[in-house]
Amino acid sequence: MFREILLGMNAPNTDTIFSKIIRKEIPARIAFEDEHCLAFHDISPQAPVHVLLIPKRPIRSMAEITASDSALLGHMMSVIPKLAEQLGIKETGFRVVANTNSDGGQTVYHLHFHILGGRTLGWPPG
Ligand code: AMP
Repeated sequence: MFREILLGMNAPNTDTIFSKIIRKEIPARIAFEDEHCLAFHDISPQAPVHVLLIPKRPIRSMAEITASDSALLGHMMSVIPKLAEQLGIKETGFRVVANTNSDGGQTVYHLHFHILGGRTLGWPPG
């Protein structure tokens, strides 16, 4: 507990259900993991393939990103095509979405990229 507080893992505004998935406290169907990020299948898929890619370091949303996150975000962008290939949607196509704050429809305040594919997706989104 003391260690978690020291590491900031229990900070009230950063500890979300995704932090629990990172710590393996709750189960998830993990698609990819490295030291910086984690991808897992969405519990309520909106397409035949629906995976969430999250940084292990908690960032609340796209609105909170600063230049100091550039390397992490660049790394995550480089993971997406590899993940899409693994999921079988690289050639057919996919969409990457980051719902941000309330008008953006964000419900979990730990930055995440939805990776959706496996069917033709409509545009514009709702
Ligand atoms: P957003 O509404 O953009 O913040 O996206 C949050 C997403 O997290 C939603 O698509 C949820 O279905 C998904 N989600 C919530 N809890 C879990 C969970 N335990 N495992 C996998 N996905 C989850």
